[in-house]
Amino acid sequence: MTKDRKAVFLDMQGTLGGTGVDDITNFEFYPFSIEALRLLNENGILAIVITNQSNISRGIISQKDFEDKMDVLNKELAEKGVYFDDVYCCPHTREDKCTCKKPLVGLIEAAVKKHDVDIKESFVIGDMGNSDIVLARNAGAKGILVLTGVGKASLTSFRHTWEGYDADFVADDVLEAVKWILSSASIK
Ligand SMILES: [Mg+2]
Ligand SMILES: [Zn+2]
Repeated sequence: MTKDRKAVFLDMQGTLGGTGVDDITNFEFYPFSIEALRLLNENGILAIVITNQSNISRGIISQKDFEDKMDVLNKELAEKGVYFDDVYCCPHTREDKCTCKKPLVGLIEAAVKKHDVDIKESFVIGDMGNSDIVLARNAGAKGILVLTGVGKASLTSFRHTWEGYDADFVADDVLEAVKWILSSASIK
């Protein structure tokens, strides 16, 4: 019998690293993201990337560009002794009317099925309220907003784009978010 596992669904740009909101090819990990992944890996919590990459549908980058970049990033993580358990990417624009672009739950549902995730015990961490926190709600997980990336703007000038939703916790960055998950404070 498989025991359902706790997962943390991680946004990429603005959460695990920079630079540039949309261009994954320039992405570099924030130094503290490595430590955050190490804590997840060591505590047996699934670290699963859920990322919107509409530049693929727009033809600005190719699917292969994305995969090549992820290969480079995965190698960098491996050199530091940490890893993602899985990576899920929506390549679409809103006009494609897919079911996987955050805050829609297509990618999380696929991950939950494949990895036997207990969604109620799981978390989404992201810097964009209308994407990452609404995704958490839609999926039935808890949502943590980080203040890196567009996080601060998400709480101010863009707060209206996720009106009616609230983060379960606001963290300075992904490392603080993971530490909060590992603390009893996150258990309700
Ligand atoms: Mg982001
Ligand atoms: Zn999609």
